[in-house]
Amino acid sequence: MKQTVTIFWHRRDLRFDDNAGLYRAQKSVESNDSDTDNAVLPIFIFDREILDKLPEKADARVMFIRDNVQKLADHYREMGSDLRAFYGHPLDIWKALLDEYDVKAIYVNRDYEPYAIARDKAVADLIEARGGSFHHFKDQIVFESDEVQKKAGGPYTVFTPFFRTWKKNLAERMSTLPNGEPVSYYLKPYPNGEYTDRLLQTKDHQPVPTLDEMGFERADDFIPPDHVTTGLIKNYDKTRNYPNMEGTTRLSVHLRHGTISIREKVRKALALNDTFVKELVFRDFYSNILQSFPHVVDAPFRPEYADIPWRNDEAEFKLWCAGKTGVPIVDAGMRQLNESGWMHNRVRMIVASYLTKHLLIDWRWGEGYFADKLLDYELASNNGGWQWAAGCGTDAQPYFRIFNYDSQQKKFDAKYEYVKEWVPEYGTPDYPAEPLIEHKVGRERALDVYKTALTAARE
Ligand SMILES: Cc1cc2nc3c(=O)[nH]c(=O)nc-3n(C[C@H](O)[C@H](O)[C@H](O)COP(=O)(O)OP(=O)(O)OC[C@H]3O[C@@H](n4cnc5c(N)ncnc54)[C@H](O)[C@@H]3O)c2cc1C
Repeated sequence: MKQTVTIFWHRRDLRFDDNAGLYRAQKSVESNDSDTDNAVLPIFIFDREILDKLPEKADARVMFIRDNVQKLADHYREMGSDLRAFYGHPLDIWKALLDEYDVKAIYVNRDYEPYAIARDKAVADLIEARGGSFHHFKDQIVFESDEVQKKAGGPYTVFTPFFRTWKKNLAERMSTLPNGEPVSYYLKPYPNGEYTDRLLQTKDHQPVPTLDEMGFERADDFIPPDHVTTGLIKNYDKTRNYPNMEGTTRLSVHLRHGTISIREKVRKALALNDTFVKELVFRDFYSNILQSFPHVVDAPFRPEYADIPWRNDEAEFKLWCAGKTGVPIVDAGMRQLNESGWMHNRVRMIVASYLTKHLLIDWRWGEGYFADKLLDYELASNNGGWQWAAGCGTDAQPYFRIFNYDSQQKKFDAKYEYVKEWVPEYGTPDYPAEPLIEHKVGRERALDVYKTALTAARE
């Protein structure tokens, strides 16, 4: 006889504690099936639809995910259960699972990227056709797009009023959720640990696929810790803009893969530093934009920016990618990205501005390069950041405000400490004497090209 199960599918939530969808799966077994042998089976799928497209075999992201799936599997095993991890195409895996088990329901946390939405719809159709059900929950952000709306209805497209309403909503919900709800106030963690008896008990442990079995290799390990000091958060507003300091949290990789809970971080941040809360809310903002305006994935948010005649000089793009533009802060940023898989936010803004304005290269080229290299790559924030820099996004700086890289250098890395860390030949004859394009010349050219294209688009 087949084992009856409710499957919880981990994706961007590689943790056991404070996991909304997992909690609901555990509770569903309690409420509906106490007299059956139904139990929660957690799974993870190393998705070949994604992995087969990665250009490098030594990809630190795949390594990070695999390490954390192993940790999760070990944790489930300590509780007498197991996490079954598969390598393949999700629909094939699901068909096999539905044959192997009597699957009553599938539980997941929502993922808002177009690929994930289509994948989940196909899986939902599959189980529903066999009489089971598919349940999805909010977990990776605090508010979804239908929860932060303008007074007159509709999504915000400017961050500041979005943030104001976000905070108002939070304050209201913290006080009005009725007692007895699983979260008695809004950001309280889901108590997954209280329901371990609902997990499928098994000694039949199957190993998590190795990197080698999936065609990958170990990469340089550059993953920052998943906790930060109170001091860092308290001082965040004073330190966050200086790339030579350890002044930001580097939590982005963990937030990306759900190895930490956003609710936990917001809860702590609320008591410590409003600027830090604001940055966490930027994640919600860009996710909301992606949910409400999915066209941003491959087109500018503002349609009048669709026909900018980008120069798209391939040789210049290569120099930008390699950190050899002759602009010290741009080169330092690109080398930090290439060598460590992370770049400081201030410098992300500077390199993106330089590519799109000074070099007049399509923001999608830069977005794609970041997607290949960033350990914290996520579609919504990356797309939002690039469209902001190119001037074509929601809450974008106007096209005529063009970052002066010399002033940025003076303001945020006055002693060139960051530059010297990543560009050791800076200040020697080996470093280019001139930038690819000088600020004033690049600025004038960008203004001219943008203005002409926008005027034509508005006529
Ligand atoms: C061109 C460009 C591309 C970007 N691409 C990504 C990306 O692919 N993935 C990504 O997570 N962030 C991206 N960002 C946003 C930001 O640069 C990073 O989140 C931040 O640098 C991560 O470092 P941290 O964890 O130390 O951030 P902290 O300053 O410590 O901030 C804490 C957390 O808040 C969130 N956050 C902070 N700033 C932003 C922001 N501007 N937008 C959205 N979320 C923010 C992140 O989750 C971050 O981990 C991009 C920004 C730009 C300008």
